[in-house]
Amino acid sequence: MTFSDLGLSSAIVKAVEEKGYTKPSPIQEKAIPPILSGKDILASAQTGTGKTAGFTLPVLQYLSETKHIKYRPLRALVLTPTRELAAQVYDNIREYSKYVNIKSTVVFGGVNAKPQIATLKKGVDILVATPGRLLDLHDRKAVSFKRIDVLILDEADRMLDMGFVRDINKIISFMPEKRQNLMFSATFSNDIKKLASGILRNPVSVETAPQNSTAKKVTHKVYKVDKKKKTAFTIKLIKDNNWNQVLIFTRTKHGANKLTQKLIKDGISAAAIHGNKSQGARTKALKNFKDNSIKILVATDIAARGLDIPLLPHVINFELPNVPEDYVHRIGRTGRAGATGEAISLVCSEESEYQSEIEKLLKEKLNSTIVAGFEPTDTAPPKRAASQSKRSFGKKNNSRNTTSSKRNKSKSKPHFKEHKLAKATSGRGRTGAAKKKRY
Ligand code: ADP
Ligand code: MG
Repeated sequence: MTFSDLGLSSAIVKAVEEKGYTKPSPIQEKAIPPILSGKDILASAQTGTGKTAGFTLPVLQYLSETKHIKYRPLRALVLTPTRELAAQVYDNIREYSKYVNIKSTVVFGGVNAKPQIATLKKGVDILVATPGRLLDLHDRKAVSFKRIDVLILDEADRMLDMGFVRDINKIISFMPEKRQNLMFSATFSNDIKKLASGILRNPVSVETAPQNSTAKKVTHKVYKVDKKKKTAFTIKLIKDNNWNQVLIFTRTKHGANKLTQKLIKDGISAAAIHGNKSQGARTKALKNFKDNSIKILVATDIAARGLDIPLLPHVINFELPNVPEDYVHRIGRTGRAGATGEAISLVCSEESEYQSEIEKLLKEKLNSTIVAGFEPTDTAPPKRAASQSKRSFGKKNNSRNTTSSKRNKSKSKPHFKEHKLAKATSGRGRTGAAKKKRY
């Protein structure tokens, strides 16, 4: 199967070939033909499976074939949950539309609105936006939705998690009834189906089947370390092994900053990515990490979500996440090009409870090692104290964890980027922490 076989024009195919894609990914094969024929679709496939091109290519083709010669009313809108994703999708659109006469732009919060308004005034065919800033611009009459032909919701599950449903519905209320709706999500949860039923009309459901059933390629390693020695141990791991590209997760923004500073002080190039960083700083950190000008990226869970971070040989959990599903998302970043990926967790005594929750979710015991000189000296808090702590898996979370693990089980599918962690990486469990967070 080639991109031309799917019905894409030579101008689009040329741009895609320049990106180095030789053939469509499974989700692209399934999604592109119905989108080209004007159908609504609900598509689900894991992160990294090429969903962006899956909706961008057919929409660009539609727009270029039905172009308004004189002026450009906004005809296609892509909504994404985060700024980084918006920027990423926009970058892709620009590349894919290199050989068609289509104008695009991106708007998101956290940066000056003026240039965005100026660009919109000149007329764009397709706009990528985060909901908050878009509504703001709409209030200021900088953008109109009256001529929207195609609405795309990217990472719809994440938008639900982040509490964007009301904003989305409001945006839709300004659009014509007759339009094409495309919804992309990493999971088909009940909540997603509910959202879809309110927006999509007779949608074609597109889901990718498991690519292959190769054995899991990610190994989990737990080092039981003293809480106070985690930084020293991290530095030792990186230096002893000569690691050049490591993604480290911390639980808090403050923790990410502190660790980053210590790494830099020790001569290891690093940058932090989290919600308190400016847009510019976040974009720069990700770019530098991708092109290897820094070795270490220290991230919080929310900041890392949905980003097109390359699959890496090593991911370090500086702290275990307080929601077990986040562990699954984190280690989904390891295992590059068929090579074995390593998910390393530094676990101090008070985190043992989180470890057992993760093991329950993975249905696998994590291999634990104690390294001389770093042994945990602190003791685990009594059960009751742990359940009172902010990070506990208290009763409140239990029902959610159960539903999510069920979802994980039923939705197992590895994705096409040599990512073989079949069981664990599927099902983007929703976390309370992410709720309502516009970071
Ligand atoms: P998703 O939205 O499913 O998480 P993306 O659209 O971000 O995935 O794509 C993930 C990566 O795969 C990107 O780097 C993209 O350039 C690449 N990619 C997309 N389609 C193809 C393809 N057909 N062949 C090779 N690489 C692809
Ligand atoms: Mg995507």
